[in-house]
Amino acid sequence: GATLGVMGGGQLGRMFVHAAQSLGYETVVLDPDAGAPAGVVAQHQVRAGYLDEAGLAELARRCDAISTEFENVPAEALRQLAERRPVAPGAAAVAVCQDRADEKAQFVRCGVPCAPHALITDAAQLAAVPDALLPGILKTARMGYDGKGQASVADRAALQAAWAHLGHVPCVLEQRLPLRHELSVIVARNAGGELVNLPVQQNLHRDGILAVTQVPAPDIAPALQQQAVAAAREVAAAMDYVGVLCVEFFVLQDGRLVANEMAPRPHNSGHYSIDACDVSQFELQVRTLAGLPLVEPRLHSPAVMLNLLGDLWFDAADSARTPPWDAVLALPGVHLHLYGKTDARRGRKMGHLTVTAPTAAEARAVALRVAALLGLAAF
Ligand code: ATP
Ligand code: MG
Ligand code: MG
Repeated sequence: GATLGVMGGGQLGRMFVHAAQSLGYETVVLDPDAGAPAGVVAQHQVRAGYLDEAGLAELARRCDAISTEFENVPAEALRQLAERRPVAPGAAAVAVCQDRADEKAQFVRCGVPCAPHALITDAAQLAAVPDALLPGILKTARMGYDGKGQASVADRAALQAAWAHLGHVPCVLEQRLPLRHELSVIVARNAGGELVNLPVQQNLHRDGILAVTQVPAPDIAPALQQQAVAAAREVAAAMDYVGVLCVEFFVLQDGRLVANEMAPRPHNSGHYSIDACDVSQFELQVRTLAGLPLVEPRLHSPAVMLNLLGDLWFDAADSARTPPWDAVLALPGVHLHLYGKTDARRGRKMGHLTVTAPTAAEARAVALRVAALLGLAAF
């Protein structure tokens, strides 16, 4: 049988492995850590760093095609692998998604509006930042996730201090936009140019981390949803992208749609598709990688996804606890996904759960009961 490889051993890799195995593929994970969530479920783990030449050679030797689950896999590693095996997504597209300035330039090239912004790589650029970008959000151009590597800056003094705090690395300053809602669109495109998308996800973030995803999106007008889907598809096609791509958007107070960022892989906001769609985002990743046909995924149940962060493993007195899964699983339509991480830390993604129900109102009602049982805020 054929073997599919994935760069990175986190939860996204784990769910990719599950999908690949269910379609009959063998799987190999490249990750340096013993006990990595994907490594422990794959048929084989290559324990090496992303730029380790022997590790990359072994991955290429063992696999027929290779994907990535980790947004910051060095593009150079993908380039090296691509000399020996099909790699999707390709190094060039991943490199665009790894750099906020390149990513925004890509949106602009595709005619997709994004936040007014400026690139800051030296003191002169810092000084030349237009007043209109303040108050703003300073973000490191590379490597940020879950709101890390970002600072809210009210004025020029704060901007200067924040850039110093971030270590004077290349950054993008974005105007702080008045958000009404957040949404995301996940598309999958294969080498033949077939392109499909999941339904639009409405997302709620808390402290820079995704907390809740609802599908169908309860508050996004159909015309805006169509606009977001068209933009995501356009961006994927323009990059000649192969694989699963997620584009995050804001809806502003004035109703305009603005692209935020993209991820060259399945996305946390698409996890609901495992339980609520007839083809999940991870199966789409497998299909695009293996050159299988793509069919438009269908949402068969309204869904609410709740992220399960490490905070749930601590009680009010900061003692370790196990969340009350028995009570949660006694509710109808609850699908619990734990990633097999043993060391819970606050803010760390330990798992998620998706509530499916015959109607969106019922899914939301059950999800609110789950949230109450777990001590999560209502939404
Ligand atoms: P992810 O984990 O999604 O990759 P990230 O660290 O790359 O997150 P962003 O998606 O850029 O960070 O921003 C995190 C959140 O901060 C957004 O979902 C949004 O709630 C808020 N935010 C980001 N940029 C802006 C902006 N320009 N104006 C207002 N709010 C913003
Ligand atoms: Mg990001
Ligand atoms: Mg984001």
